[in-house]
Amino acid sequence: MSQENLNPFAIAQQQLDEAARILKLDEATHQMLRWPVRELHVSLPVRMDDGSIQVFKGFRVQYNDSRGPTKGGIRFHPAETIDTVRALAAWMTWKTAVVDIPLGGGKGGVICNPKEMSKYELERLSRQYIRQVGRLIGPAKDVPAPDVYTTPQIMSWMMDEFYWQQGYNAFGVITGKPLAIGGSKGRGDATARGGVFCVREACKKLDIDPTKVTYAVQGFGNAGQFAATLMKELLGADKLVAVSDSRSGVYSADGLDPEKLVEYKLKNGKVSGFPGAESISNEELLELDVDVLIPAALENQITADNAARIKARISAELANGPTTPEADKILYDRNVFVIPDFLCNAGGVTVSYFEQVQNAYNYYWTIDDVYKRLDQKMTDAFRNVYENSLEYSVDMRKAAYIVAVSRVAEAMKLRGWV
Ligand code: NAD
Repeated sequence: MSQENLNPFAIAQQQLDEAARILKLDEATHQMLRWPVRELHVSLPVRMDDGSIQVFKGFRVQYNDSRGPTKGGIRFHPAETIDTVRALAAWMTWKTAVVDIPLGGGKGGVICNPKEMSKYELERLSRQYIRQVGRLIGPAKDVPAPDVYTTPQIMSWMMDEFYWQQGYNAFGVITGKPLAIGGSKGRGDATARGGVFCVREACKKLDIDPTKVTYAVQGFGNAGQFAATLMKELLGADKLVAVSDSRSGVYSADGLDPEKLVEYKLKNGKVSGFPGAESISNEELLELDVDVLIPAALENQITADNAARIKARISAELANGPTTPEADKILYDRNVFVIPDFLCNAGGVTVSYFEQVQNAYNYYWTIDDVYKRLDQKMTDAFRNVYENSLEYSVDMRKAAYIVAVSRVAEAMKLRGWV
């Protein structure tokens, strides 16, 4: 095992330090960008169904709001830590900047295991979270959204709790809401769709025919399921050979039907046992000889320990932080083209931003409007990052940092912060 530091915030800071070095950032700007401008730690007493009270710990981090209100999801996860939330909030800052939407970066989290909680317990926890962080959020301040193990239903409860606090409907306080209460068409698959647009652009640059590619998806939740189906639907990709979830994975050299797999996962809560497929571990999936690998689970999946065995030509990072800095170097030397997380998965926040715009306007777009505008944003961002990677002779992640960090640094300078 390598001695890499796998603390996500240490990794986020290390990535920023490298960009600061390349951009020759002054010390004050660099220091401002290394830490959140603000964070709130909360204790959340929640009445459980058996009458007892359990106290959960939660966080909301506002990393940088120089380009606009902070924006970022809320995770409900048993292994949540403040450093994970800080790292995700930093990556949100770079993400909104790289796709050039007028927002900053934030993130929230609660340490809990939603799989072991009833619907009513989850509702009480969601409302309690807003009772605590409500003072910090709002359409012009900080706008949460769903993330790992939080859903449109949870967003509805949170938005509703904010309504009871404020006394009026502020739909724009939270995005990822259901359509009936101010959601946007196209939000459900936006993260995956944006990632698939990036894969399409990468194939053009690398002269790969997308209709001939084989692909594998690690993590079969919201992002991963849509990625599996949209690779076929939008690019005509040839073959999905493997997918996995937190329990295990399935593989077939002849190809798996993405639609049937999604149906199976929704019915059985897991992918294992899918008819006609062999079982495969998460580690084996990452090392498959495929054209496109799509990490869509959690952080630190591709590290110094396994990077040398990754055979994919393109790694399209839908997950946040799936690759460590040590692994990045190895992948770059081995000519694996990485579409970095905060570019590849920016489709979600882009359509969240569209949702906010529609809420403010109180007028709603067609699905075609959403798809067209998303494609434009993702394609422009991809090309801009790609050109910077050529200009500075760096990998796509460093290039994405160069674009994003310069935009945030410029905003802070113009405002007189540094
Ligand atoms: P989700 O909760 O819907 O799905 C997560 C999936 O990953 C589940 O299928 C789970 O079983 C699986 N998983 C968990 N641990 C795993 C492991 N060790 N190995 C393999 N699979 C594992 O979450 P999601 O919204 O799809 O998010 C997935 C990733 O994408 C996260 O990193 C998230 O931050 C990122 N992301 C999501 C969005 C979005 O709009 N949903 C936007 C940007 C980034």
